[in-house]
Amino acid sequence: MKTAAEYIASLRARKLELWVDGERIPDPVDHPKVRPAINAVAATYAVAHGPHAALASAHSELIDAPVNRFTHLFTSPDDLIKKVEIQRVLGRLTGTCFQRCVGMDGINALFIATWEASEEKHARFVKWLEGVQRRDEMLNGAMTDPKGDRSKRPPAQPDAYVRVVGRRDGGVVIRGAKVHQTGAANAHQILLMPGQALREGEEDFAIACAMPVDAEGVRMVLGRQPSDGRKGGPDAGNARFGGQECVVIFDDVFVPEERVFLDGDLGACATLVESFAGFHRASYGGCKPGNFDVLIGASDLLAREHGVRRASHVRDKLVEMAHLAETVHGVGLAASAKSTAHASGIWEVDPVLANVCKQNVTRLPYEIGRLAEDLAGGAISTLPSLADRTHPELAELLAPAFGSEARAKALRLVEYMTYGAGAVPFRIECMHGAGSPQAQRIVLERTLDWDAKVQRARVLAGLDDDEELPDIR
Ligand code: SF4
Ligand code: FE
Repeated sequence: MKTAAEYIASLRARKLELWVDGERIPDPVDHPKVRPAINAVAATYAVAHGPHAALASAHSELIDAPVNRFTHLFTSPDDLIKKVEIQRVLGRLTGTCFQRCVGMDGINALFIATWEASEEKHARFVKWLEGVQRRDEMLNGAMTDPKGDRSKRPPAQPDAYVRVVGRRDGGVVIRGAKVHQTGAANAHQILLMPGQALREGEEDFAIACAMPVDAEGVRMVLGRQPSDGRKGGPDAGNARFGGQECVVIFDDVFVPEERVFLDGDLGACATLVESFAGFHRASYGGCKPGNFDVLIGASDLLAREHGVRRASHVRDKLVEMAHLAETVHGVGLAASAKSTAHASGIWEVDPVLANVCKQNVTRLPYEIGRLAEDLAGGAISTLPSLADRTHPELAELLAPAFGSEARAKALRLVEYMTYGAGAVPFRIECMHGAGSPQAQRIVLERTLDWDAKVQRARVLAGLDDDEELPDIR
């Protein structure tokens, strides 16, 4: 298992094409807008060696060796529970998105889907996964297509979807783009997957395959985040860590067939998309509560600095924030504990609870953020730069406005998380990541047993006989 330093060093060997603010970046590792996100991924490597190693690593039966949990298969309910637990730890350690879970959830969904597709494709996938585990790679799980006009199917607007545009000896040629790509520029490989279930006639879009991030024709463009110009400076808010999203362009990329895992398998693609959605919706029950812990901590720190920590309404607001955080975590854990075995050997989360988890994540962070802004006061929006706080001419004059160093930095951290760069994982990704709110409601409506509920109501109302408790009269 790589250390954090080995992971960062390994990124320098790539010949990645990355564009930031209209310029091609020669070495992304040292770029101030990229490095905080690399640091957050590095934390997933660091925890496999420190006091969290028991959660952060696992024994892989595939290679009969210890592996980082982010490359591990979910071979028991315990694996799913530990996944959510280490995600919470990392959410708390970094205060942001550490970007490695899409790949982890993706390999598990693809293990199931290739198992359903054919023995040959499954064997191909497993062989590739063994290499990922041995090299302890960071994967960019690439699913979301631009989608264009949502009322049109992919064949009516092919440029809005990644698809196969050519077949040559021994492989396929891929064209299109994936958007919102978490941690793409910090990865070793791209695990490309379809973003939605596909129909007959849409086989060219039903492609799942892998390629190095610097394969010929792969081009990445970094997404902007609010206040991202502050990264690396005194007003960053979160001094060392950050999230990342890229547009990844596939400009006629050739993928050899040993890395093509699904190709036109419509049923397996539907399985992949549904299974991935379940895994990733439960994942948010780990990382997001970890991020909430940081915001709760910053709010508590500010209350102490302001001398109001014992005020009853302040205590009540902090308890409310913590209760909302534990609500999300509890459902993520429950979805994992109530998992069931797929015939391939992978354990799948409870679909109702995983979707309830994510549905809560589309709402509760907004309330937690509202309470944090309430407790912080207006200074989160009006504070001058922290560079002014230590300026020889201004420091003394500004001392009353800034207060202590702890107050000034905690204010910046709350600002960062609620509407600065950290609001991307704290708010917008909570809303739309792993599927927008309506996607979860669709699954819930389809999965819940409505007839069973009606039947029980009929029995208790005295309309039908009670076959479940016949002896009680
Ligand atoms: Fe992992 Fe959470 Fe980031 Fe998704 S949002 S990649 S689950 S940290
Ligand atoms: Fe996500």
